[in-house]
Amino acid sequence: MPVAHVALPVPLNRTFDYLLPPGMQVVPGCRVSVPFGKREAIGIVTGVSDTSDFPIEKLKPVAAVLDNRSLYTQDLWRVLHWAAEYYHFPLGEVLLHALPVLLRQGKPAELTPLWQWFATEQGRATPLDSLKRAPKQQQAMAALLQGKIYRHQVSHLDLNEAALQALRAKSLADLQSVAPLTQDWRKDFSVIGERLRLNTEQATAVGAIRSEDQQFSAWLLAGVTGSGKTEVYLSVLENILAQGRQALVMVPEIGLTPQTIARFRERFSAPVDVLHSGLNDSERLAVWLRARNGEAGIVIGTRSSLFTPFARLGVIIIDEEHDSSYKQQEGWRYHARDLAVFRAHAENIPIIMGSATPALETLHNVQLGKYRKLTLTKRAGNAKPPVHHLLDLKGMPLKVGLSQPLIQRMQQHLKADNQVMLFLNRRGYSPALLCHECGWIAECQRCDHYYTFHQNHRQLRCHHCDSQRPVPHQCPQCGSTQLVSVGVGTEQLENELAPLFPDTPITRIDRDTTSRKGSLEQHLAEVHRGGARILIGTQMLAKGHHFPDVTLVSLLDVDGALFSADFRSAERFAQLYTQVSGRAGRAGKKGEVVLQTHHPDHPLLQVLLHQGYEAFSKQTLEERKSVFLPPFTSHVLFRSEDHDNRQSALFLQQLRNLLESSPLKDDSLWILGPVPALQAKRSGRFRWQLLLQHPSRKVLQHLIKSSMPLIGSLPQAKKVKWTLDVDPIDN
Ligand code: ADP
Ligand code: ZN
Ligand code: ZN
Repeated sequence: MPVAHVALPVPLNRTFDYLLPPGMQVVPGCRVSVPFGKREAIGIVTGVSDTSDFPIEKLKPVAAVLDNRSLYTQDLWRVLHWAAEYYHFPLGEVLLHALPVLLRQGKPAELTPLWQWFATEQGRATPLDSLKRAPKQQQAMAALLQGKIYRHQVSHLDLNEAALQALRAKSLADLQSVAPLTQDWRKDFSVIGERLRLNTEQATAVGAIRSEDQQFSAWLLAGVTGSGKTEVYLSVLENILAQGRQALVMVPEIGLTPQTIARFRERFSAPVDVLHSGLNDSERLAVWLRARNGEAGIVIGTRSSLFTPFARLGVIIIDEEHDSSYKQQEGWRYHARDLAVFRAHAENIPIIMGSATPALETLHNVQLGKYRKLTLTKRAGNAKPPVHHLLDLKGMPLKVGLSQPLIQRMQQHLKADNQVMLFLNRRGYSPALLCHECGWIAECQRCDHYYTFHQNHRQLRCHHCDSQRPVPHQCPQCGSTQLVSVGVGTEQLENELAPLFPDTPITRIDRDTTSRKGSLEQHLAEVHRGGARILIGTQMLAKGHHFPDVTLVSLLDVDGALFSADFRSAERFAQLYTQVSGRAGRAGKKGEVVLQTHHPDHPLLQVLLHQGYEAFSKQTLEERKSVFLPPFTSHVLFRSEDHDNRQSALFLQQLRNLLESSPLKDDSLWILGPVPALQAKRSGRFRWQLLLQHPSRKVLQHLIKSSMPLIGSLPQAKKVKWTLDVDPIDN
């Protein structure tokens, strides 16, 4: 009897063998349901053969075959296999992770029929007037007499389901299922929106990409903020879509705004599907299926949209390629940009990575000749680059963190009827609450970290573990009632700004004000309408947004970033600064950026402000090279957590010994640790780490691959929760 090799979503790095009963047929990439322990599990067939490494008589049979074809395109199949190896993550988990939830659960891989309300013959014959005592029903009936109504559109039309059900009970209306429409957008593809006249740099970029859009080519589109990168994407897309090919456009988590989506929808007749967090599982599956059938022209989505199968993928675009949200930070810790490049290569199509602040990794790949760089140095249209000012805070009196010169500038800009944006990357009322009598500070015991005071909710919240508790009335240490807030967060800034700027509408955009579904969109719309004059925001406001009337941007307190222990913090700060300041003066109006600091002479600020991001990145790459840091070396980080702060260090030491005794270890391997993680305690767990560094990614990969099977049997392995992070972005 043939044997099916099945990858299951379990933390074991192997496949499992099952017998294929007569008459059952499988192909690699299809789902099967199989007995696993005491339960049934859904797995992916990776191959079929006549033999097994296990005694045949011990094998159990496959319970059911769920698909008659592979759920993966050939290229995606290759990408996922490669990724499982590269990230040392179990193939079964990787393969299932790449599927929409409903498919992981075993639901059929086909579009579910849609339900439609219609008026029955009796309904057509009944005069509407007879329903006048039930206005809702009358309204619904009137609508039905105009035409059939899809069930999922009932609420959009301001009708309600109960009224329709009532009509159904009276036999005036009924439901029918209809097969979803499949349409081929290719036949009458056209550009419906207005094309902008490309400037020379844009045209050069488009020309270069178009000339090679039939094969793999990797492009870095390095364009300053407001230089019209989206217009370049759209021009490239036009060509691809006109050839009947599809496109994947990836954006950072907070970049998926209605504004962005609209720019793509308004330009082309081809359908644009969006994968965002507001979709339910069946909507996600629907997008997945439409892309696979070729019905979607463009799919826009965040990190995980990378796994969308396409019938005819023609290009991948990654906007804001430096953004950290492309890196998955739990479970399978992949980097979507890196995988996207691999996918483009497998599919033999171009990939465009756009950013005003390219990641140093990406710039390094340009230096190596792996990616080619296209540059947009000027802002598009009439917009001019903003003017930068450093404001030395030393000795200056501050009002809620604002210096007098800044307040004056704000008044000038507001008077000229422009908008002002204040950037403060700290939400809540204040980052700490302390006792004025004895100095006690409210601290989250589970994280050894100060609680943030949230005045509006009368709560203390830990921003590390999300735990919260009511604000105490008295100091638990000395009983004093003199508890005072220290430092300024966005909530306080908003409250205190109102009296300083009377009659000036203020909008705050941070995680607290946008947690409700749709509220971010509302806030953004408010800003665009011009309703808000002062915008306060955390890094949610930093990226991608195009607010034409913002002419003054100020960063209130960023000094912390200048003195961080993480070697990547300079890069992150430079990106943040450049992105935030890029919000100023994006239309015809002149923009200004004011950075408040106690360290105006800090070399990082000097380079950034006087020479810009490019100079900064060149210099920083040189530094990284001289001290053997990524991207000139490769990193793999092992993390381990425990409850008593004893097991993890022990486990990582055992792991270190294991690696050091490997025959694959050479003199270039550098191991740091075990050391406590930067955030050494979180949610009651103690965190330790072990960092491996090697100039050759290949050597490091081999070493880890050969050691993986042994790690699980280290004495302490079962007593800790350990994970492995290839190319970590925070360590
Ligand atoms: P980026 O993504 O590079 O920050 P955008 O693509 O959002 O920039 O473009 C910034 C603004 O410039 C937008 O309002 C866009 O419509 C406008 N724009 C882009 N290209 C042109 C062009 N060639 N001519 C005139 N305006 C342009
Ligand atoms: Zn006290
Ligand atoms: Zn906590």
